[in-house]
Amino acid sequence: MTGGHIKLLPPLAAREQQEERERLLLSLHAEMRCCEQCVSAGYLARAASVAGFRGRIGDQLMLIGQAPGHLSVERGFPFAGPGGRILDSWLQRAGYPAGALHRQVYLSALTKCDPGKNPRGGGDRKPSPAELALCRPFLLRELALVRPRAILLVGGMAIEAFLGPQLLHDVIGSSFERNGVRLLPLPHPSGVSRWLNAPEHQRLLAQALAILSGWRQAWESEGESAASISTQE
Ligand code: SF4
Repeated sequence: MTGGHIKLLPPLAAREQQEERERLLLSLHAEMRCCEQCVSAGYLARAASVAGFRGRIGDQLMLIGQAPGHLSVERGFPFAGPGGRILDSWLQRAGYPAGALHRQVYLSALTKCDPGKNPRGGGDRKPSPAELALCRPFLLRELALVRPRAILLVGGMAIEAFLGPQLLHDVIGSSFERNGVRLLPLPHPSGVSRWLNAPEHQRLLAQALAILSGWRQAWESEGESAASISTQE
C-alpha cells in the first residue's frame, strides 16, 4: 500500500518519561485552545476548539477524526455528539466496556477547531488543505507524546492522511502497520454518511471491529501476564 503522509514513531509505554510527557501534553492542549492561526489566515471567522480533556499518556488506542463538531465545542469534550455514541457502541462490539471511548482512548482530529457547516448542506464543512496544513503540527506533537499502539482512522479524510487516497471499501475491514503502530480504518459514524447503509459495508465494519477485538484481547493478556510476573517476584 502506498501513500500516507504522516510519519509515526513506534509505540512507547506509559512509564517511559511519563511525567515529562504528561507535562508537555497539558501545555500542548493549552496551546491548541488558544490557537487563532486559521482566523489570522482568514480561514475561520472564529477559532472554536474543544476545551476539555482529550486523553492520557498511556492510552494504547488513539482515534483520529476529521475535526470537532459544534456539539463537542459547546459541551467542551471531544466526540460529545451522536457520532461519539456510535463510536462507543462500536468499541463495545469490540469488547470494550461502555464509556471506553472517553475513558480509554486518546481522541484527536486532523484539525482542532469546528470548521462550521458545509454551506452547500450535507453536514460539517471539510477543513481545507490549507487548514489541515496549519493544524498538522499539533497532531504530530500529540502523536509524538501519546505514542499509541494503534490508531483508529475515522472517515475518509483521516484515512487519506495516513494511507493516501483510498476507497473506503478497499481499506475498511483491513489493518495496516507503520513503524510498529497499527492502523485501523473505520467509516465516519455520522448519519450524513450513507456508506454504512449497504449490508456489505456493515460486514466490512464488523470485520474491522473483529480486528480491534483481537488487539484488545492480546493487550489484555499481556497486561495479565505482566501482573502475574510482578506478583511472583
Ligand atoms: S484549526 Fe488548528 S491551526 Fe486552525 S485555529 Fe484551530 S487549532 Fe489553530
